[in-house]
Amino acid sequence: MNGTETPDVVVVGSIAFDSIETPAGKRPKLMGGSASYTATACALLARTGLVGVVGGDFPEAYLDVFRGAGVDLAGLERVADGKTFHWDGTYDADMNNRTTNCTELNVFADFDPVLPEAYRKSPCLCLGNIAPALQAKVLDQMEAPRFTLLDTMNLWIDQTRDDLMKVIPRVDMLIINEHETRELTGKDSLLRGARDILAMGPRYALVKKGEHGAFLMGRDFYAAIPAWPLERLADPTGAGDTFSAGIVGTVAAAGNLDAATLKQALVNATCLASFTCEAFGIERLKDVTKADLAAREAAFRAILP
Ligand code: AMP
Repeated sequence: MNGTETPDVVVVGSIAFDSIETPAGKRPKLMGGSASYTATACALLARTGLVGVVGGDFPEAYLDVFRGAGVDLAGLERVADGKTFHWDGTYDADMNNRTTNCTELNVFADFDPVLPEAYRKSPCLCLGNIAPALQAKVLDQMEAPRFTLLDTMNLWIDQTRDDLMKVIPRVDMLIINEHETRELTGKDSLLRGARDILAMGPRYALVKKGEHGAFLMGRDFYAAIPAWPLERLADPTGAGDTFSAGIVGTVAAAGNLDAATLKQALVNATCLASFTCEAFGIERLKDVTKADLAAREAAFRAILP
């Protein structure tokens, strides 16, 4: 792709330096950000264009990771005198919870996304985790997307709830983890929380439960999936964003939202997310091939009842 073609999927979200500490080790300033994980993984399944912003401090080598994965960068803005978004997080011993030590929005604070003309016609949009007001600006520019996926996090539920509540009714699917589901809906039961999300407008609620898998609820649809059994977890950062890539990439490639497509999407999402957890940052994910994904899918299907 060269920026004049319409991608199958437009991915927007953060592009970041991540400083991460897990029980497996500590790494400063890795390449990270919700859109980085999603776009890199999604490009394995569908033609993917990235929308986001980086500062002048973002290394060319990191951009080469996107290029190597086949991600189109026509929607990437570079602010020469700005600093890249920085996130710093520490994981608990079981890696199911993490503490954010700092979030420095930097160039994202003034980001005003303008989509390349060709991107506006894209059939699929993944609104990765970033301020809901920015997600809305991207959604406003899309002509008639057939499938829109929205991710968010506790920070936005806490600080910009009104903005978030304006975007949620406009998308087809909300992807959200178990803690965020309880925070957003006030329900202890995740199933009842997911029902509340459907009542907000989306056709589907996809609830991620870390090592316990995920479930997808629609008005007339329900499917649950376990996680890939991973005994040695290095760093779960980006697992959720990679999961999103499996969903939107599969739907884009199939061109429909049939039950079979949605179930395949859950399998691809689970397998892709498992690669992300195997190493710090994007280290493992960036080298995953279609053959690696197919092999993991076969092994995963073999353990499903
Ligand atoms: P996940 O582990 O899938 O929830 O995503 C982790 C990624 O989200 C990291 O690479 C962070 O850079 C990014 N991130 C963390 N906090 C924020 C935030 N407030 N806005 C956007 N991206 C964030």
